[in-house]
Amino acid sequence: MRLKTENTFVLVNHTEILEALVGLKDVQVLAYERRGPEVTLVIEQTPGEVFCPSCGSRAHVKERPVVSYVDLPVYGSAMTLSWKKHRMCCVNRGCVTGSWVLSDHRIAAKNCLLTTRAAKWATRQVGDGRTVSEVADELSCDWHTVNDAVLTYGEALLAADRKRLSVTTAIGLDETSFVKHTGHAHPHYATTVADVQNHQIIEILPSRNYVDVASWMNAQPPSWKERIDYGALDMSPAYAAVYSVTLPKASQVVDPFHVVSLANRALDAVRRRVQRDQLGHRGRRDDPLYRVRRVLLMGEEKLDDKATERLRSLLELGDPEGEVAISYRVKERLRDFYATRDPDEAKTMLRELLEHCVSRAMPPEIQKLGKTIETWFDKICNFHVARISNAPTEALNNLIKRIKRVGFGFRNFANYRIRVLLYAGKPNWRVLGSIVVR
Ligand SMILES: [Zn+2]
Repeated sequence: MRLKTENTFVLVNHTEILEALVGLKDVQVLAYERRGPEVTLVIEQTPGEVFCPSCGSRAHVKERPVVSYVDLPVYGSAMTLSWKKHRMCCVNRGCVTGSWVLSDHRIAAKNCLLTTRAAKWATRQVGDGRTVSEVADELSCDWHTVNDAVLTYGEALLAADRKRLSVTTAIGLDETSFVKHTGHAHPHYATTVADVQNHQIIEILPSRNYVDVASWMNAQPPSWKERIDYGALDMSPAYAAVYSVTLPKASQVVDPFHVVSLANRALDAVRRRVQRDQLGHRGRRDDPLYRVRRVLLMGEEKLDDKATERLRSLLELGDPEGEVAISYRVKERLRDFYATRDPDEAKTMLRELLEHCVSRAMPPEIQKLGKTIETWFDKICNFHVARISNAPTEALNNLIKRIKRVGFGFRNFANYRIRVLLYAGKPNWRVLGSIVVR
């Protein structure tokens, strides 16, 4: 008979709760007590004959210490499992072995204050996006108790669930800022490795440096590396170098999101400079260029006639040399490049745009944009062949930010990593049922 692990997440009433444990044939329920909201389940496990681990002689029960564990919540409040354990002692008088306490990982792992089924339930809850504090509240126990269990079982699940990584043919590298709660306040950067086809996070690395990311990549199985056809990235030379060295056969694809936001930043820089030149101060509420700052960053197709006319007339007022207007056209042209389906047509378009950008008549900010596009030209154009982007990773990064906001207590990277991977890594939760932590 085995513990019905598949049921551990749906136990709602005491009958089921009892049955799951009674299912272990050597477990006896001694008492089930309910005082107000507090429920205590008292059990004793009676194993068969026990022998001394060092001399092999018969062992006998010396004491029955009662150890309490936090068990699953019943009727919305936590249940305590009081386990009458057996402290064994060797019958051989000459034996040097002291006494030892019998344990059973199916009921509770060593050094874990939660029962096994409660630990797995808590891991799943956190994987569904609840905070450790919420789960700790529901179980009426300490934050650390839940966090330790989630780390232990989460880590074991991710290690056992290797299948989730074996289907990837396109990955993305992306940086996220990660602020340590203790010590210095400046942000540390983490690298998210994502499967950009299946929209799941594969790994989080505590660095964005070439050596660290390349070492991780190198450590992956050759079969995994050979399967990767595309590597998405922002315009980071470090990530480009990682791909070139560790996945030389994969095509690198610059993410559209990053290219368009670079153009938006250039446009905004032009606007701010022209505004200062015209008025001698930073943007104020009534300044024409300040009033169009948001409209400029919107897609042209989203503007109705009224908005288009307003943009035109405000630019006429605030942008006499037409520098903002021409930067706006560049940004829109870049968006046209992404809207084009045919790879060759798109490439020609981008080549023309880039030559236009680097001409001396253009605002310096746009010339700089043109040079960046030139540097990354092929990898930007690869988007039209690969049709993959880091955009899903961006979405996942938003999830990460959400977890960071709600999940206080990210004192170290290990907590952060496990929680993100449980939440956005799409682990196979069925595997959790068979995870054994002794
Ligand atoms: Zn002995």
